[in-house]
Amino acid sequence: MSSFPIEAFGGVSTPFYYYDMPLLRSTLATVCACRPPGSVVHYALKANSNAQLLKLISQSGLGADCVSGGEIEAAVACGFAPDKIVYSGVGKTDAEIRLALSLAIACINVESVAELEVIDAIASECGVVAPVAIRVNPHIDAHTHHYITTGLSENKFGIDISQLHAVVDRVLNMKHVRLRGLHFHIGSQITTLQPYEALCEVVNRLQDEMELRGVKMDYINVGGGLGVDYEYPDEHPIPDFASYFGTFARLLQLREGQALHFEPGRSIVCQCGTLISRVLYIKEGLHKRFAIVDAGMTDLMRPALYQASHKIENLTSQGALCKYDVVGPICESSDSFGHDVALNEAQRGDFIAIRSAGAYGESMASRYNSRQLPGIMLGE
Ligand SMILES: *Cc1c(COP(=O)(O)O)cnc(C)c1O
Repeated sequence: MSSFPIEAFGGVSTPFYYYDMPLLRSTLATVCACRPPGSVVHYALKANSNAQLLKLISQSGLGADCVSGGEIEAAVACGFAPDKIVYSGVGKTDAEIRLALSLAIACINVESVAELEVIDAIASECGVVAPVAIRVNPHIDAHTHHYITTGLSENKFGIDISQLHAVVDRVLNMKHVRLRGLHFHIGSQITTLQPYEALCEVVNRLQDEMELRGVKMDYINVGGGLGVDYEYPDEHPIPDFASYFGTFARLLQLREGQALHFEPGRSIVCQCGTLISRVLYIKEGLHKRFAIVDAGMTDLMRPALYQASHKIENLTSQGALCKYDVVGPICESSDSFGHDVALNEAQRGDFIAIRSAGAYGESMASRYNSRQLPGIMLGE
């Protein structure tokens, strides 16, 4: 079991997110050491936009990948230079596009022709030329560990690969939009490298096609999605960035002067965060025992939202292992962190750690049931 400074937890009200800052520092150092020379790593803020974490991440030299005007403002406030900010999202508002243009961020990742037309019009009003990348949906199945080209697999993200050439033609005719790159983001919590290998093949093929047409991109953005080990966070506190970056360095055929961009979110911040709660009640059911904790789906929504599973530990007890359903106080049946979880025998007041909660945890917290937002503790 990993070590947490339980003594320091005593006077703090639960639930709160505990962030292991030395682990975040080592993770960032690993990223900076392993990334291909000349590439830019844009941290995806939506995974966690806590200001303390953002400051450390911007100081380490990473750029920012934002999906809203609010995230762009948070990035700038925490020290990310606008020329290292990229902006994605299928539903950018006019005000958000204006904000991006007025700050002169590096690039807007565009997800539809309708959006391109609006960007062209707003850039024209503002008297600027908007740098854009086209987000391509390459039909790579990131979850089944093999890729299928169905031609039917439509989703709201990106422009279908079959429509790319027509869209490029449109962009090249727009006066206030400049095509700078191709953008891809094939999914999240990807735990094998095979989808990335498939992505490299697709990118190489598209680049060949673009070259035949005399269209050159300044950069290729391969998005994020690298997964983490939720089951064994202590064995794998830092994802295998060397293999991840190495795959692109080995397989992608970049053109002269072309830069490679990445957008990792989860893999940067997930393992440094733990949600700390206390046991409120042990409830003996008919066939089950419930550990009712003071953290709920409002603090960490992943289990309720997509049946995600997190490692759970009793930090206080050395007692025999018993099975519990670990549940929160919210008035929803989905407010559960795990069924039949083996915990050291628990009693009221014990500290319960829900591990690997640094990504899509605090950033998804809500005030449902008029609850307070979770607190924060930075571990040094
Ligand atoms: C969410 C997102 C990311 C980050 O994904 P992770 O799985 O957290 O690495 C990167 N790029 C885009 C466009 C995203 O929407």
